[in-house]
Amino acid sequence: MTEAWIDELRNIVGPRNVITGSDSLAWESDGFSLVRGQGMAIVLPLDTSETVRVMQLLAEEGVPLVPRGAGTGLTGGASPVQGGVTIGTARMRKIFSIDPIERTAHVQAGVVNSDLSLAAKPHGLFYAPDPSSQAACTLGGNVANNSGGPHCFMHGATTRHVRGLKLVDAQGEVLDLLSSHADPAGLDLVGLINGSEGMFGVVTEINFRLEVLPEEVQTVIAVFSSLDAACDCVSEAIAAHIGASAIEILDKLTITAVEDSVFAAGYPRGAEAVLLVEAEGGALEVQETIDLVLQLANKHEAIETRRASDGAERARLWAGRKGAFGAMGRVAPDLYVADVVAPRTRLREIVHLAVEIAAERNLRLGNVFHAGDGNLHPNIAYDRRDEDEVRRVLEAGRLIMEACIERGGSLTGEHGVGLEKMTHMCDLFDDADLSVMHRVRDALDPKRRMNPTKVLPLRACREVRNAGMPLSPMENPEGKL
Ligand SMILES: Cc1cc2nc3c(=O)[nH]c(=O)nc-3n(C[C@H](O)[C@H](O)[C@H](O)COP(=O)(O)OP(=O)(O)OC[C@H]3O[C@@H](n4cnc5c(N)ncnc54)[C@H](O)[C@@H]3O)c2cc1C
Repeated sequence: MTEAWIDELRNIVGPRNVITGSDSLAWESDGFSLVRGQGMAIVLPLDTSETVRVMQLLAEEGVPLVPRGAGTGLTGGASPVQGGVTIGTARMRKIFSIDPIERTAHVQAGVVNSDLSLAAKPHGLFYAPDPSSQAACTLGGNVANNSGGPHCFMHGATTRHVRGLKLVDAQGEVLDLLSSHADPAGLDLVGLINGSEGMFGVVTEINFRLEVLPEEVQTVIAVFSSLDAACDCVSEAIAAHIGASAIEILDKLTITAVEDSVFAAGYPRGAEAVLLVEAEGGALEVQETIDLVLQLANKHEAIETRRASDGAERARLWAGRKGAFGAMGRVAPDLYVADVVAPRTRLREIVHLAVEIAAERNLRLGNVFHAGDGNLHPNIAYDRRDEDEVRRVLEAGRLIMEACIERGGSLTGEHGVGLEKMTHMCDLFDDADLSVMHRVRDALDPKRRMNPTKVLPLRACREVRNAGMPLSPMENPEGKL
């Protein structure tokens, strides 16, 4: 028997836009497929006003809520582990306006990332943050996770590009922060909502800054016979204040997987590492940056360096990089994508550690990362049907995170905390810090119905660490708490 309020949801958004039963299985996890849950329904409102009515109804019923964009997240943030209702933005796909003079765009949260740059192109503009998932992920999901991408080395992650937004909170009230003022006075609530991972409400509309398309873009590929040499080349480029827009490294396992896949980019098979550097801007400054890259690559004994000859070759080089996670499907059916931050002076050391940690556990690890930002993605290919392998993967992930934190790095560069990293929040923050975060959350959602049991550890870390109580659903085989 269905709950009466599910019928009421159908009245609000239309019967086709409420999904229940076996049809909702595709929503049971995001890209972090180790943790799954089945909610009571998926609801797809069309706009802010339908979202308000849905949220008001669910507030009356006291139902937990999970906001969801495209479900490409890699930390379990959009998985309905505590049941309840998932509110998806798949129908919120409108680009309301692009203002070429203010260089802004007003969009709905379900717009796919790459669609915004396509729409801005005729105005000579583009949207800079470019997650590798940009052909699928939504701008609302990008805001919730404060997502990055290769070109965020120059342009900064999502939060740098959000001017304003509209949020429907857990009670169904609208927080309209779409101010037309460039820098409104008062507390920076827009900044607070960026990166809040669906804990404060559903973002329905966003106003973004756009960038002017550069006069000149050039991409260089440098090929190395050791990963160390590629890392050292990047560290020296950073120390020389290189003006690049993107600096990325792929290792041997990843190169092979890419070259075996539909994303084949012409990376030399057998190379230990490929470094991709892009420069954009005026012709002269681009030339200076490229000259510096070539000089440093030679100094670090690159075995080959090559400039992309035209736009098509450049696109091919980037398609290989952006398809790298997908290409790892050639190695094993599942992929654990770690997302950690290393101080840029310790890139080489932490990459080595990750490789060792995986080798000791007989795991297949590939490295593909935003080297310029120190944002590492050690990726472990595995088969989730193999329980022992899953145990070793999670152990390796934990040790890699701990190694980064111990060396002054951080827990997440761009994928968020979600479920995967909740417990490790205790390694980065003390109970006093976490208590402030809980109080901020409670101010916006006193009943903690928005994306419950995500991001913030469920209990004071110090009290439970020795008592063996779970700090996150990841520590409880049943998922529920
Ligand atoms: C192949 C691949 C490559 C990737 N590359 C990158 C990369 O280069 N950089 C990067 O940063 N990430 C990357 N990711 C991770 C992921 O794509 C990003 O985190 C992305 O921003 C998630 O967007 P989404 O629409 O899929 O959100 P979802 O996965 O649906 O949700 C992510 C989180 O945001 C919340 N949320 C979603 N929409 C809203 C909303 N409207 N209001 C409030 N909360 C919301 C959810 O509750 C959840 O906590 C990659 C993922 C894959 C699979």
